[in-house]
Order: sequence, then C-alpha cells, then structure tokens
Amino acid sequence: MRALCTTGPFVISSGFDALGLAPPLLQAVRELGYQQPTPVQEQAIPLVLAGRDIMAGAQTGTGKTAAFALPTLQRLAVHASSSASPARHPVRALVLTPTRELAIQVHESFREYGRHVPLRSALVYGGVDMNAQIAELRRGVEILVATPGRLLDHVQNKTVMFNQVSVLILDEADRMLDMGFMPDIKRIIALLPPVRQNLMWSATFPDEIRRLAATILKDPAQIQIAARNAPAELVTHVLHPVARQKKRELLAYLIQTRGLKQVLVFCGTRIGANRLAHQLRKDHIHADAIHGDKSQGERELALEAFKAGKTTVLVATDVASRGLDIESLPQVINFDIPRSPEDYVHRIGRTGRAGLTGEAISLVAPEDLESLAAIENLIRRKIERVLVPGFGPDGTTIAALMGRDAVPAREPRARESARPTAPQGPAAAQRPNAPQRAGTQRPHKHSDPIFSTPYVPGLAPQAPPAQPSAMHARRRERPVAALLGGLKRAAG
Ligand code: AMP
Repeated sequence: MRALCTTGPFVISSGFDALGLAPPLLQAVRELGYQQPTPVQEQAIPLVLAGRDIMAGAQTGTGKTAAFALPTLQRLAVHASSSASPARHPVRALVLTPTRELAIQVHESFREYGRHVPLRSALVYGGVDMNAQIAELRRGVEILVATPGRLLDHVQNKTVMFNQVSVLILDEADRMLDMGFMPDIKRIIALLPPVRQNLMWSATFPDEIRRLAATILKDPAQIQIAARNAPAELVTHVLHPVARQKKRELLAYLIQTRGLKQVLVFCGTRIGANRLAHQLRKDHIHADAIHGDKSQGERELALEAFKAGKTTVLVATDVASRGLDIESLPQVINFDIPRSPEDYVHRIGRTGRAGLTGEAISLVAPEDLESLAAIENLIRRKIERVLVPGFGPDGTTIAALMGRDAVPAREPRARESARPTAPQGPAAAQRPNAPQRAGTQRPHKHSDPIFSTPYVPGLAPQAPPAQPSAMHARRRERPVAALLGGLKRAAG
C-alpha cells in the first residue's frame, strides 16, 4: 500500500489520489473505507473531471455510482454557496434513475461522497406525497436525483427549473428503456440547456440506447467494465424443463426439498407475482411480492422482511429487480422466462455477488423455448438441463423436445449445483484482488444496507465467458433437441 499524505485538514489515502480528485472527496472516500478505486472509477473519474461525455457499460456492484458522483461533485464544488437564497442553489446536476430504490441508493451515495462539499442534493420519486419534495426543491438544490415520471410532475408543477443544469447523468439507461421511460426521458432532455456534460450508464446497450446515446452524447469516451452482456461469472445456471401447469408445484418442491432460505423469484407480471406469492403461502412457504403496484412503504417492508430472513421467497417483477442488491443472495429463480434476454442478465445479477457463488434456476416450459434460445445466444453459453422427476412435460412433449439426444432415465443422484449454496464467507477473503474497505473505518451506513454489497471485480473487461462443462458434454444436431436436450435427472 502506498503512503498516506496530508493536504490541508484532509488526510489522503493512496490509490484515489492519482485520479485528480480534490482533498474533500478523497477524505470522504477514506472515511468510507475505500482503499483502491475500482476499474470503472479508475477509468471514468479522470474523464468526467476533464468534462468528457461518457458512455459506460457497468453494472451495479462495480462501484459505478462513485465513478460518476465523485467527479461530478468536484466539478460542481466551485458553485457551492452558503447563501440561504434558493436562487443561489439552482439544479446543476440531474441524475435520472429507473426505480425509486436505485434513486434512493444514488442519492445516499451523493450525500456520502459529498459529505465535505457544501452542495445540496434532493431526491424525487413517485408513489409518495409530493409536498415534502416540493418544499425541498423550493429551498434550492444543486444535485437532483429523480425517477423520470415524478420529475415531470414537478416540471408541470413548476417546482423545478433546469436552466442551470450542466450535467445529465442517466443511470441504468437500459432499464429506463425497458420500463417505458424513453418518452419521459426525451421530454426531460428537451428541457435542458444544450451545452452540458452527459454521462450515460447502462448494463447493456440495446439498439435504442445506442440511438439515444448518438443523439445526446458528444464525442463520448467509452468505458466497458462488465464483459458486454455477460452475466456474473460466479453464477451456476441450471434449468428445469417443466410442464407449464406444474411450475408452481415444482417451485414449492424445490424450495421445500432443498431447504432454500432466501430466494428471489421472478415473474413476468404483477398479477402473476401476487398470485404466486399467495399460492406459495398456501403451501406454507413464507412469500411476499414486490412490484410497481406496491406503495413505497409496502416495498420497503417487503424488502426488510426478506433481508432479515423473515420471508423465504420474494416474488418480484423485473421492475423491482433493478437497484436490488442483497448480500449473499444464494438463488434467483426465473419462474417466468423473461422475453427480453437482457432481463435474464439483469435478474441473475442479483446472485453471485460479493465473491459468493450463486445459482440461477430457470423453470422452462415448452412455450419458453424461443426466449431460452435468445438467452443462451446472448450469454453465449448453454444452460445445463436437469429434469426433476414428476414435473417434466408429458412423455410425448419430452420425446419431441429431446429427439434422439434423449438420455435414458438414471437413478436420481445428488448434483453439485443442486445443493443449496451456503454463504461462503466474506468476499474479500476469497478474492485477493478485491478492493477492500479498511476494516476499522466504516463509520457510515447506507440508508438501506440492502444496497451495501462491496465491489468485487468479478467482471473483468474482455473476460471470456465461463463455459459450464455441461455445455460441451454433447453436441446436439437438431435445433429443438438442442434446447431441451441431454436432460439429466436431479436428486428426487
Ligand atoms: P455501486 O456499483 O456504485 O452500486 O457500488 C457497489 C458497492 O461498492 C457500494 O456499496 C459502494 O459503497 C461500494 N464501493 C464503491 N467503490 C468502492 C471502492 N473503491 N472500494 C470499496 N467499495 C466500493
């Protein structure tokens, strides 16, 4: 470790000091216990400080929030004012996020990283009363973190002005696209001064995001931290072929026989999520649902209970999956296979975090085959098939699906990846290169520690996608057989 040096009242730790950050920001980083910048921070911070536009591919968990918040705070620090007049505190940085949860997390990060910089920040998101937000906006804030819909409500209400905005940050742009926010985002962008810095962050870059980037970014520097569209490499993928009508039973069976304790289950619709949680409760499994129809209070309560281990299963829609970062989440189950393959990557990003292994289980009915093919194409790997006896599609369908690649039924056997994945101790202990927080310096606390998974460099640039051995086990010739071929039998 490099030596510490002192500048004014601030003690500066090494690593971050090479990036050009000012002492108050270095001090905050030190107090947070960050020892080294993460790769995305190393790349983005100098570029943002230099005023460049950025197009960055980095997922939650890479330290991306500090990568844009630290240099943005520094660039705005020159405008810090002790005046009480709202006119001296116009909105200068606008951060748009897809979900309330992510907005809360990003806002909290700005407060933490900016603890020694006298800039004001505010948070606006829907589902809660507007009055408190209006009062805060009227007092004046330099940094505004918002979800698009509620921000437009404030625009309409004339509680917010954008004429001094000099930085626009789009966080998880692909998720905003998926959630249908693109028209809102375009309306907001049209209200901003044309000369500004733009920082676009996205885990994936579908064509529409690239088109948006082309219209708003000026000569952007490109940063790619996660291998493009690659899922976390510590995740074991497995799929269980199942008759559609037996999915719920199979889910309950897996949870009960494997003694799963903290499972995030994805459903395609809000109604489906509610119904599934209800049915699981009837099977005596503690389950709750979280989705966009729930009030903020209900979502927070559901998250708290899940985090505390009081709820075994949290059934979520894709909307709820972003911004959800739960330490040591061992399993994610796709009850409904996502139609957009990129959602698969986002969903399983909830497991295999912090250097722990995770398991992504998909319940695949014959009608899901097309979506499955798109997923396997995107992640560039073939997902291992494991048939759970008694739950597969009927004989004719299986035979049709498997064709001549059918594997004769074997005695049920224990399968490594079918065992519950126990938490494996602190990530840093297992990943020697993981940036670590100094053990004794953790004075801060996130507003919600659900978001506090430390960065682990699991997704190095250009990392080749991991190839599960099952993938090479057998070459299948017929396309359908290739999708559900080579079924194995799980322990019954
Ligand atoms: P993010 O990807 O921004 O959501 O950050 C994920 C987690 O990593 C958060 O809990 C951050 O506090 C933490 N983090 C960010 N940068 C660092 C760093 N350089 N060293 C250690 N932890 C970090």
